[in-house]
Amino acid sequence: MRKRLVAGNWKMNTDLNDGFLLLKDILNEVREAELEKCDVHIYAPFTHLKIFHNSLNGSGLMLGAQNCHQEESGAYTGEISAQMLASIPVQSVLVGHSERREYCGETNEILAKKVNTALANGLKVIYCFGETLEQRESGEHFNVVKQQLIEGVGHLTVEQWQHVTLAYEPVWAIGTGKTASAEQAQEIHEYARKIVIEMSNDGVADATRILYGGSVKPGNAGHLFSMEDIDGGLIGGAALNGESFAGIIRA
Ligand code: PEP
Repeated sequence: MRKRLVAGNWKMNTDLNDGFLLLKDILNEVREAELEKCDVHIYAPFTHLKIFHNSLNGSGLMLGAQNCHQEESGAYTGEISAQMLASIPVQSVLVGHSERREYCGETNEILAKKVNTALANGLKVIYCFGETLEQRESGEHFNVVKQQLIEGVGHLTVEQWQHVTLAYEPVWAIGTGKTASAEQAQEIHEYARKIVIEMSNDGVADATRILYGGSVKPGNAGHLFSMEDIDGGLIGGAALNGESFAGIIRA
């Protein structure tokens, strides 16, 4: 049985004060009993991580960063390394979010390096993948997803897979209010799990969580999460409100 996971991606939202208030709201909303059935991760801005680590101590929630650099260290002005994150300590990092693929030119090759560097520094990874609307409409979505998976995480060992979660995020559903139907999402999740068998083995495919992301809200989360291969959600907009984030965890 794969334990459910709901992860909040705050993106570039909240200053430190507002972020702290939001974190307090979330902590007030999320009950211990819910954490037995569902892991909860918060992917906060870099500036919030140290103070959030102190506040989350003992809460059962996991703290993550939204990105790390692919190199271990060096002359990369303005970048944050996996080792810096691990020293906070942060436990997990998002790799391959479509906004970073689009705005920061992150290719599958760069993302494969980020995955390696994050894992080498003891961080867990949520690796995001998903097609654009144009790619779906031209029927390329299965090939795009396959390539993103093979080139980004196709090289992982069985041991490394234990620290990796996948997140299917169709770009056309992110922040648009357009959710993939549960059936559309399930179709890709099932396909992605088959690709994991090809890249690794049945046991890894069975154990690996695959999250859905794209306009998930308390009202649609239950149906999405009832699908066989959907193991939880990566949440953007609805993670910025304690009540709606908790509503998704309950779903
Ligand atoms: C995301 O950015 O990962 C995301 C899924 O955003 P939203 O929930 O706002 O669509």
